[in-house]
Amino acid sequence: MFVRIVLAADIGGTVLRAALVSEDGRVHARVALPSQPREGPAALVERLLVALGRVLEEAPPGARASVGAIVLAGPGPLSAASGELLDPIAPFDRRYDRLPLVHLVQERFALPCVLARDTVVAARGEASIGAARGSADFVYLTVSTGIGAAVVSGGRLIAGADGLAGELGHMPATEANVVCPCGALGHLEAIAGGYAIGRLATEMALAGRGDSLAQLVRQAPDHTLTAADVAAAANGGDPIAAAILGRAQRAIAAAVVGYVNAFNPTLLVVGGSIARAGGATYLAALENDVRLRAIPTAARRVSVVSASLGDDAGLAGAAAIARDCGYV
Ligand SMILES: [Zn+2]
Repeated sequence: MFVRIVLAADIGGTVLRAALVSEDGRVHARVALPSQPREGPAALVERLLVALGRVLEEAPPGARASVGAIVLAGPGPLSAASGELLDPIAPFDRRYDRLPLVHLVQERFALPCVLARDTVVAARGEASIGAARGSADFVYLTVSTGIGAAVVSGGRLIAGADGLAGELGHMPATEANVVCPCGALGHLEAIAGGYAIGRLATEMALAGRGDSLAQLVRQAPDHTLTAADVAAAANGGDPIAAAILGRAQRAIAAAVVGYVNAFNPTLLVVGGSIARAGGATYLAALENDVRLRAIPTAARRVSVVSASLGDDAGLAGAAAIARDCGYV
């Protein structure tokens, strides 16, 4: 029997996922569509409404009647207060600035609706049913196409004056004039995000650097390399690919040392496709850097662990978010 259920959507840069999430965090009736943000906000919103509608259609009647709220996990930065995206970061562009997602969803579905940053939903999910269960002080970090984070301190999410706190992928990481997907210079994501890794490798391969990178870029349909291509080339012994990944990992490690010093967490929960691909070795390297370089008392206390929710990260916490808002 379904009790207190939430209709959830995770609006990612590549995939738009929707599902029903029951109060224990279990995910039912999933729908996944390509998000295709380049087609513009109207097309994206239409796909979102289609995905939410399809989940409701496919749900058993008992579950449908128990839906108490809609929770949208969106790309940061955004305003949870106004339900709008703000200052969009690639692959979303200026057309998405102030897109009133909550208003548009509520026009179609007569249910309370809340918009939260995808990393906040993921952190809430990890806290209620995942790797951060029982932890009042943790940092959630996702290393994927972009780099996102959320910080929970004393059991509360650190929100900041505009709800924008915790965008740790956009901490300054280098003096070099590398443009970040957010448009600013020298951020961590501009060096260590999957998009940046692929872009830098593509530039170097097109300039004739890196034998296997150059071969991969010739074979790629749009002559663009991904972070997965770079990892494959590095595993095959390409020194340029290994150097690009090494620089990214050093930047992440330095940033994580900063997070431990700044927030004194007991847990650092690391998710995202790049961290997942790196496995236990990747986490152990981060933990070593923390032990070596963070304030000793903070370094001794913190454990670096893998996020446990995987592709459900932006969905599973939806029930907890709706509960926080008093909707279910
Ligand atoms: Zn940035």
